[in-house]
Order: sequence, then C-alpha cells, then structure tokens
Amino acid sequence: MPDANRQVVLARRPDGAASVDDFKLVEVALAPLGEGEVRVRGHFLSLDPYMRGRMNDAKSYAAPQRLGEVMGGGAVGVVVESRNPAWAVGDKVVGPMGWQEYFTGDGSGLNKVDDTRIPLSAFLGSVGMPGVTAWHGLHRICKPQPGETVAVSAASGAVGSVVGQLARRLGCRVVGVAGGAEKCAYVRDTLGFDACVDYKAGNLQADLAAAAPNGIDGYFDNVGGVVLDAVMERMNVFGRIAVCGAIAGYDGKPPVLRQPRLILVNRLVMQGFIVSDHMAEWPAALQELGSLVAEGALLFRESVAEGLASAPEAFIGMLHGKNFGKQLVRLAQLDRSRA
Ligand code: NDP
Repeated sequence: MPDANRQVVLARRPDGAASVDDFKLVEVALAPLGEGEVRVRGHFLSLDPYMRGRMNDAKSYAAPQRLGEVMGGGAVGVVVESRNPAWAVGDKVVGPMGWQEYFTGDGSGLNKVDDTRIPLSAFLGSVGMPGVTAWHGLHRICKPQPGETVAVSAASGAVGSVVGQLARRLGCRVVGVAGGAEKCAYVRDTLGFDACVDYKAGNLQADLAAAAPNGIDGYFDNVGGVVLDAVMERMNVFGRIAVCGAIAGYDGKPPVLRQPRLILVNRLVMQGFIVSDHMAEWPAALQELGSLVAEGALLFRESVAEGLASAPEAFIGMLHGKNFGKQLVRLAQLDRSRA
C-alpha cells in the first residue's frame, strides 16, 4: 500500500480572475486505516464550474472553500483498503472525494456504482450530478411540450448536452448555443440538436432568430450575460427560463441582465435552482440517465487532463471554454484485469 497521498489545496483566494498560483500541490503521509474506515484510489476527478464560486469568500449557496484545505469535488475510484464491512476492496464508488489521489473516510457520502455497462467516468457527467441538473431544470422548470422550442447554452458541455438530448426525446425543436464552429458542429451533427448558434460568430441575435423561427418556449441558461440577453428577446409569451448557471460572470465581473422588463412583457417564469436541493429526485433521474447511456441513446464527450498536477490549469481552462465536453482529470488508470 502507498504511504503518501498527493492533494491540491487552495493556497490563496483569487484577486480577479483565478490563476494556477491560487492552488498548491502538496504531499502528505497516508496514516493506517482506523476501525470503520475505507480508502479509495481516485480514478477520475470532476472539475465543475461551481468550484470557482467556492474559491471566493463570499455568500453563496455553497460554503467557501477553506484556505490550505484539499479542494472539494466529486470523483470516482476504487476501494483499495477497507476496515468497514459495508465496503470491499474492488468496489467502484462515486462521491465527494476532493482533489487528491487517495480518499480516506468512514464511507459516508460514497455510493457504489456498476460500470459494466456505463463507463466509470460517466458517473461524474451524464449519469452524475450534471446529468441530474439537466434533468431537473428541463423537466421541472422548462417543462417543454412536444413541438415547442427549447434552447440551451453551453450546449456541448456536461449539463447542456444532456438538456438538449432529453428535450429532443420529448419531441421539441432544440437549439444549442455554444462557442465556436467545432462545438456547434458536434452539437448539431453528433448530438442531434436541430440547430446550434455560435455566440462568438458576431451575429447572435440574427442567428438565434434563424435557429428558432417560432421563438423560444423554454430556455435552460448555463451562462447568463449576452447570451441570456439575446435569448430573452426571442422568448415567447409564457416562456420558462431555468437559471442553472451564469458562467460568463464566474471568473470576472458578474454580467447585468440588460432587459428585465422582458420578463413582464413576455410573462416569463424565470427560476433559479440548485440540484442538491432536490436529492429525492436523484435516484429516478440517475436510473433514467444510466439506462439511456447504456443503450447508447444519450451521448457525451469528455475532456480528460492527465494527472492531479494538471487539475488547476484544466479547471481554469474550463471556465473559459477550453474544455470540449465534461472536464475530468485522470488520476489513475483503471486496471480492469485486477478490478
Ligand atoms: P461545461 O461542461 O458546460 O463547461 C463550461 C462551459 O461554459 C465552457 O465549455 C464554455 O462553453 C461555457 N462558457 C464559459 N464562459 C462562457 C461565456 N463567457 N459565455 C458563454 N459560455 C461560456 O460545464 P457544466 O456543464 O459542468 O456546467 C454548465 C453550467 O451549469 C455552469 O454554469 C454551472 O455552474 C451550472 N451548474 C449548475 C448546477 C445547479 O445546481 N444549478 C449544477 C451543475 C452545474 P463554450 O465554449 O460553448 O462557451
């Protein structure tokens, strides 16, 4: 068994945009397991936009990340040692294990996963927290009817890609918004959206009008900012907007909603949500998402950075759209012959 663990801790709070110098890679000794403890070797670490908010010492829905402590975050891995009868060596698990190679705990917060038909990494994406986020915002807030038009921003990403594919399955016209021609081609040609607008191409309003000729009934907003402003102009009366994220403002100045009067004019419902407030829905949503992924009916793409040390750079890249699909860090190779 190894006697050392590598971790990424928050070294300082960002002053403006986050930088790799805000993080520090440290090595700590691994103590022998206590009674009731379990140790997991992390295989994939999930990098998620919400982590940027936790780096600030500001009021939010999640408590600030403490300085000098291991960055929080979800991961999947394999149990390598156990002194807890509920967990056996070789069990594959998902849970809040943080930015580190080995996680040690009493097992609370961990869930076993079966990766025979679903790749282990997908439990951090389409069959994990981002997938349930898509499921909740679409079904509970956008509430689309067949034939309606649904739009989603950050459409090639972990959440957006699931939103659009689920909405297509409901019989909606689906319009993605993404940054760049390559991402838009993937959203349209591989994920099967009806159209995708490149918000960086400079014709956002006209391109949205062409992509959504009948207006937009449900908008799943992942980004805020200029994309939200432009979509608001295309919303149909009694439209629904699920405010899931506002990544355009996470690493800089928060954008301002330019025309709040459109909420009134178009009688819109605009509702924010946090997926962890809806834990009762997770099992059914994960069951549905897992079946779709196993059948090949829900596609996803991943950007995988190699090794724990690459996590800070990959994280900052994701905040600025360098990822293409769910951003992960590979912490170890999964040895299927021994697992
Ligand atoms: P993604 O995999 O979509 O990655 C983030 C993407 O955001 C980038 O690839 C980039 O795509 C896009 N982006 C970055 N900056 C901008 C910008 N200035 N304007 C427009 N788009 C931008 O991340 P996730 O799917 O994990 O998360 C998507 C959103 O969902 C985030 O806002 C996140 O905070 C939110 N979220 C909310 C949850 C909740 O409970 N409410 C839970 C989980 C996620 P592109 O290149 O296309 O611009």
